[in-house]
Amino acid sequence: MDLIVEHEGKPYPVAFRSLVQIKDALPTSRAVVTDENLARLYPGFLEGERVVTVAPGEASKGLATYERVVRELAQSGADRKTAIVGFGGGVVGDLAGFVAATYLRGVPFVQIPTTLLAQVDSSVGAKVGIDLPEGKNLLGSFWPPIAVYADLGTLRTLPAREFRNGLAEVWKYAYIMDAPLASALEGLTQPGDPRLEGVVRRCVELKAEVVGEDPFERSGRRAILNFGHTIGHAIEAVTGYGAVLHGEAIAIGMVLEARLGERLGITPPETTALVRRTLGEVGLPTALREGSDPDALLGVMRRDKKATQGRLAFSLVETLGTCKLYHDVPEDAVLGVLQAG
Ligand code: ADP
Ligand code: ZN
Repeated sequence: MDLIVEHEGKPYPVAFRSLVQIKDALPTSRAVVTDENLARLYPGFLEGERVVTVAPGEASKGLATYERVVRELAQSGADRKTAIVGFGGGVVGDLAGFVAATYLRGVPFVQIPTTLLAQVDSSVGAKVGIDLPEGKNLLGSFWPPIAVYADLGTLRTLPAREFRNGLAEVWKYAYIMDAPLASALEGLTQPGDPRLEGVVRRCVELKAEVVGEDPFERSGRRAILNFGHTIGHAIEAVTGYGAVLHGEAIAIGMVLEARLGERLGITPPETTALVRRTLGEVGLPTALREGSDPDALLGVMRRDKKATQGRLAFSLVETLGTCKLYHDVPEDAVLGVLQAG
């Protein structure tokens, strides 16, 4: 059964298929955007396709690569009926989606997420965009795909660190929305685990539920997904993006935000302990690195686009599997947690 994600009257399916089936299901007129790693690993899938290949990594989510991709499309005569197919992780998905949203004022977009992170998170919710030198995702749009196709088999070629990176977002859904998912996830560390398909489907379902209620990130409903992200984004920013992967940064962020919730009397102590233990068992970092500067982290958080008028907002776990957005978290409580590490 395909899952259907609602986007303001433009529903799209998230379907789990093999790459062979996916190739058959794609629109006839199409151009595939991918990165060099995927081009090397999946030549069969790309055979016969019109392909634009970018370098792997966040740097490809910039204006220079965007310009190259849209110009290659223009030169190859891509028209309004040409679907842009993003075959890769979150970087490729965000870039390809932004190309689709803007080329000829918008052409059809298909996502084929190949990282766990992209399958459970970034491919669902219609956010597309690129980075500016001034900041991440500063140029973007909501551009729903016509379909998301995922082949869980592609996760077997993912480097172990990238798989763990995605597991951080998977555990996030359990902590904030689904206590039974937490039990189902115990011991899941490998892409070959037979439980994985059910788990990925469940995460897509949960994300679909939230983004369906708040398609354009206006009501605040979507903000619950930011558990671990207020601190996590700050960690990514101060370490300069790339040194710490997104999932690693939010793993640390979730542990610290659980402790923050505990100090505020919102998160029960056993939940904080569970967050730390389960992320640690996956092999994710659960504490700030030696020498991290709490004031620098706090400084970034103050500039976070979710902070309104200098007040810090956090999605905090109440009991395992439930959470709520708190708008007025005192800075000294946050600083205390960062200082404790
Ligand atoms: P994310 O989905 O985590 O946001 P990226 O798009 O940066 O991230 O992908 C992370 C890395 O994993 C990149 O180097 C990318 O080339 C690589 N990658 C993506 N999918 C696969 C896959 N199925 N097998 C092997 N490597 C992959
Ligand atoms: Zn995230």
